[in-house]
Amino acid sequence: MALRGYLTLSKDVILELKGVSKSYSASGGEKIVALDNISVKFNSNRFHMVVGPAGSGKSTLLRIAGLLESPDSGSVFFDSEDYTNPSPQERLDLIRHQIGVVPPYPGLLPYLTILENLVLPMNKNKKNTAVKMLKNLGVENMGSYPNQVSVEEQQKASIARAVINGPQFLLVDEPTSSLSESGALNIMELLMNLKNEFTIITFTDNLEISKYSDEVFKLNNGILK
Ligand code: ADP
Ligand code: MG
Repeated sequence: MALRGYLTLSKDVILELKGVSKSYSASGGEKIVALDNISVKFNSNRFHMVVGPAGSGKSTLLRIAGLLESPDSGSVFFDSEDYTNPSPQERLDLIRHQIGVVPPYPGLLPYLTILENLVLPMNKNKKNTAVKMLKNLGVENMGSYPNQVSVEEQQKASIARAVINGPQFLLVDEPTSSLSESGALNIMELLMNLKNEFTIITFTDNLEISKYSDEVFKLNNGILK
């Protein structure tokens, strides 16, 4: 049933890409194939990981799955409905309400405090909800600016900001790239604890952390296996 007109949980396959390709033009004019005919299904309430080296197409795949960019060819389905070419309003609704994106570090706005970063995207300006969520995730210094707290705290706040509006999906780009081993472990544990509430797709070049996920896909030169 329709994601259009709001969501039902419980679908097995919540996001599906069929034959998705995407190319860019390099500055010299030559064609760069970022994604090459990718077909993949992501099941609801699972923790998926897409692992691949730098330049393999991870962030491009995240942008297409998050409706931030359209593929050159192929299709994107949410809850069995075709969202390859959504109307501007449909795109906006999904991005606002259903898709949470954790950008690569440093993803927080530097001129807002941690708390203000969370309140900014909220559907309703409920500061108390933001405070509660930050406390739950162990972020204490919420009145500080991002560069005044640890990278781990910034990443926790960035995840909190992505889930504050209760999305269906969480798309996470390189969550451990700037962290120590123990910091990375803490962030992976946090994400694992969220998988009952959200369908998570984490994109990483760190094969080590893939052991925390339910399902691993490997991306190389724009080809997913
Ligand atoms: P990853 O996140 O795995 O490092 P990306 O998706 O960022 O990979 O990039 C995949 C390929 O597409 C790389 O060769 C990159 O240089 C290229 N690319 C990505 N975005 C653009 C863009 N906006 N313009 C030109 N090339 C791009
Ligand atoms: Mg990337």
